[in-house]
Amino acid sequence: MKAGEGMKRMYIGGEWRESETNEGLPIRNPANQEVIAEVPRGRKEDVEQAVGMARDTFESEEWQAFPPDERGRVLNEVASKIRRDAEEIAKLETMDTGKPISQGRNDAEAAARYFEYYAGMADKILGETIPIQANILDYTVREPVGVTAHIIPWNYPIQITSRSTAAAIATGNTVVVKPAEDTPLTGLKLAELMEETSLPKGVFNVVTGYGREAGDALVHHPDVNHITFTGSVQTGMAVMEAASKNVIPITLELGGKSPNIVFKDSILDHAADWVVKSVIQNAGQTCSAGSRLLVEEDVKEIFIDKVKSRMLSLKIGHGLEDPDLGPVLSRKQFERIETFLNVARKEQAIFLTGGERALVEGCEAGYFLQPTMIDQLDPHSQVAQEEIFGPVLSVFSFQNEEEAIKLANDTPYGLVTGVWTENVGRAHRVAKKIRSGQVFINNYGAGGGIQMPFGGYKKSGFGREKGLEALRNYTTLKNVALKM
Ligand code: NAD
Repeated sequence: MKAGEGMKRMYIGGEWRESETNEGLPIRNPANQEVIAEVPRGRKEDVEQAVGMARDTFESEEWQAFPPDERGRVLNEVASKIRRDAEEIAKLETMDTGKPISQGRNDAEAAARYFEYYAGMADKILGETIPIQANILDYTVREPVGVTAHIIPWNYPIQITSRSTAAAIATGNTVVVKPAEDTPLTGLKLAELMEETSLPKGVFNVVTGYGREAGDALVHHPDVNHITFTGSVQTGMAVMEAASKNVIPITLELGGKSPNIVFKDSILDHAADWVVKSVIQNAGQTCSAGSRLLVEEDVKEIFIDKVKSRMLSLKIGHGLEDPDLGPVLSRKQFERIETFLNVARKEQAIFLTGGERALVEGCEAGYFLQPTMIDQLDPHSQVAQEEIFGPVLSVFSFQNEEEAIKLANDTPYGLVTGVWTENVGRAHRVAKKIRSGQVFINNYGAGGGIQMPFGGYKKSGFGREKGLEALRNYTTLKNVALKM
């Protein structure tokens, strides 16, 4: 199936299906708003089917007896098929999300790496023996939780779908994926690749549709045993409420307002490169975007000039032309960003760059935003505190280490922090006092390493994805005591 070929189907129980109501929803290319595909508008009845198939498969003898090493082999097969079709996946991702194609290629590679990484863990989910008494053998077993639901956002669809489903399948669960309504194409492509392997039908299911319909039905379904959600705080809270009704665990990844803290003793050019990169990747629509710059007062002016000149030299364009910056997802997202920018204007903040829509020839209907840097914001203003999800950098300065830490921690979020300094002692002191799930010193993201646990403090959510830590999300612990 290729984009533009008409109505696609959902993947439920190993079959390609239309929605029960036969309705579709259009998928647009953010660069020019052209409709590139139509996917089924899945609703409650479709979710019922998918969860039912996932439950039956989970309890089937075939899946219960499926050897862990075989699970690993299948996941490795998925990884190699992703690599085989990497260029097609990258293009689909670019057409669907608007991101530059080189970032789509990185996403495809990261997706393959998730499957490889968790494939290697499939037969290494170990229990313990616990000494109690001489005549009692006590041991623990890590068991799969059962049917897992995966609610995917629109910013990194193939990566985020792969990171949680690979860990869930490696540990013996079955999964139901609900891609974001704007960007379901690579989730469906992943289902095609699963179908090519010997994974039993019903292990991997995809229901497309709106959050308020298919998503809501999935998170409320009484037969779901775990929910992984990435997206906004508001929807995350609704998902948490739904999970509470069925008393099931959830993993929430809810974005951030991540700072880059630049000390005067850092290598300023290197730091400036990364400050820009971290806020413009995927047009700033990244949960871990470095959307706040905290710079030591003594070097503020010189550092801002460095960032500014980099911002002004960025190429904006259609993702397939591989610019630095593509469009934001949609008019709705653009208007949301504009609302923040207007608040900043009202508060008399200073726009050092950007702030306006950029017009791209041939893509007049796309919503491109000039890379934007804003100074003189009150650190407690809405713009400085809330996730904007666009290429918008807020600038603040500090006098000393203590003030830097205070500013860095002073938002409701705590996902990622960048610290730039040549002083190792200071780097560790700051890392210790920062309240965020990841701290990067003299780098930002460490190349996206899928091995590093990732997740938030405070309103950035809870639970960890990526790395070995994520395996805990998808297993539950049983203790067995045998009296001899
Ligand atoms: P959202 O949180 O509403 O959507 C994320 C996913 O949740 C989508 O798959 C959506 O269909 C689903 N969903 C929506 N309502 C649901 C419900 N009631 N029950 C179950 N699932 C539901 O995000 P959005 O409205 O697309 O974007 C709004 C803002 O959220 C963005 O501007 C950004 O600030 C933030 N966001 C953050 C991330 C991130 O990676 N942290 C990703 C996407 C959006």
